[in-house]
Amino acid sequence: MYDAIIVGARCAGSPTAMLLAQKGYRVLLVDRDTFPSDIMSTH
Ligand SMILES: Cc1cc2nc3c(=O)[nH]c(=O)nc-3n(C[C@H](O)[C@H](O)[C@H](O)COP(=O)(O)OP(=O)(O)OC[C@H]3O[C@@H](n4cnc5c(N)ncnc54)[C@H](O)[C@@H]3O)c2cc1C
Repeated sequence: MYDAIIVGARCAGSPTAMLLAQKGYRVLLVDRDTFPSDIMSTH
């Protein structure tokens, strides 16, 4: 059982999951992609 399920494990989802977990919530972070992977960037 989870307190939060976060879909998307990149720059928005990952820190959200981390912060919730640090507060003691049970968090499931899922992504349809595999990691590490390239992301769209002009850098
Ligand atoms: C071509 C391009 C160039 C860019 N260049 C720059 C740049 O140079 N500098 C910059 O700061 N920003 C850039 N951006 C913007 C930056 O990529 C986004 O602002 C940032 O990635 C948004 O992060 P996010 O975590 O919200 O979403 P995303 O990075 O889009 O991550 C969303 C994740 O959710 C997963 N997901 C989505 N739907 C589902 C589902 N139904 N089930 C499971 N998983 C799912 C995806 O697989 C993905 O991993 C660029 C964007 C594009 C398109």
